[in-house]
Amino acid sequence: MKANTTAGLGLLLLLAASLPLPAQTPKAWSEKWKAENKRWIACHLIGLKPDKLDAAKQLVVEGLAPLGFNALVLEVDYGFQFKSRPELEADGLSREQVRDLVEVCRKHGIRVVPLMNCLGHQSWRKTPGALLKKYPQFDETPGIPPDDEKIYCREWCPSHPDVNKIVFELIDELIEAFEADAFHVGMDEVFLIGDKNCPRCKGKDVGGLFAKVVNELHDHLVGKNGVEMLMWSDRLLDSKTTGYGRWEASDTGSHLAIDRVPKDIILCDWHYEMPAIYARMGQQKPFPSVRFFQDKGFRVLAAPWRNPESAAAFLHVAGQEATDKMLGVLFTGWAVDPEGLLAALKSEPKPFVLGKNPSREETTQGVAATIRAGLTELHAADGPR
Ligand SMILES: [Zn+2]
Repeated sequence: MKANTTAGLGLLLLLAASLPLPAQTPKAWSEKWKAENKRWIACHLIGLKPDKLDAAKQLVVEGLAPLGFNALVLEVDYGFQFKSRPELEADGLSREQVRDLVEVCRKHGIRVVPLMNCLGHQSWRKTPGALLKKYPQFDETPGIPPDDEKIYCREWCPSHPDVNKIVFELIDELIEAFEADAFHVGMDEVFLIGDKNCPRCKGKDVGGLFAKVVNELHDHLVGKNGVEMLMWSDRLLDSKTTGYGRWEASDTGSHLAIDRVPKDIILCDWHYEMPAIYARMGQQKPFPSVRFFQDKGFRVLAAPWRNPESAAAFLHVAGQEATDKMLGVLFTGWAVDPEGLLAALKSEPKPFVLGKNPSREETTQGVAATIRAGLTELHAADGPR
């Protein structure tokens, strides 16, 4: 009898060993990633089209993973085949293509965070994005004519009662497609909020309006979906007191939102200039925002772009000013495509100094040089290994 039981157990073990392992659940993968990665080394990419999917996978496998990247912030915006809101006629990556990319990333230890611009960047110049094209009533600036050539980017009205329902459905669809455990809401370069021609917002406190949107997004993402929330942090800095310009800090009053939003948001603090330029703008020590946000209680990712000298200086300060809230680095990839970036990362490193008005090609070279310089700075700060 005993012999039979032992033989049965052996057979069972043999059977179990021959079966494929159950796939790791997204939650288990997420917990493992968090346990194994105390520092983020993240890359941001924007505008990935379906025909560039293979190039993006190649960039991940041959470029980012070997360099030690562990996160990819993929800016999707309306470049996704949304099923929840077909009336937007949004086009781009399919759910299956997203799953494919995420699977490749996970195999290489890379966490993928989708990004959809919220509030700001709802048009490029006079050309509206999918949301405002279909729902022009959400426009914060109804007084600016549709053919206005001078507008930078339109925004959605933070007080419109119908906008969140639609936006939240889009966000939920991206979270599902990416099996995401974190979501980046954009929210940079918001200039028009509280416009005098918006019947709902005119005369309202801009800090309060901005905080309202952040809190509503946080309730939806962190509260309802249980994912982490990331955002660009420029609107939470006061351009007058920080010595940053009105692009990377705010002169609208939106910075007053900072004490009215949850501290568990991960702030992506982007700065691309040289310390000498910031010194001319009044900074006694460069990049004061890195410490400012940590002291406020936020976790921070330092986000450089295409200027290796600036990035090295920025990450040096980030290392010096690091508390347990300093998460790491997010290399931004504005105006860069995956093929170009991979080729630049694989090419022999050459000295690179960013010129004035860089072309797309120079920008690509600059982003690759910035990644190299940034990683060198991070590893130097780690000391001998
Ligand atoms: Zn409004």
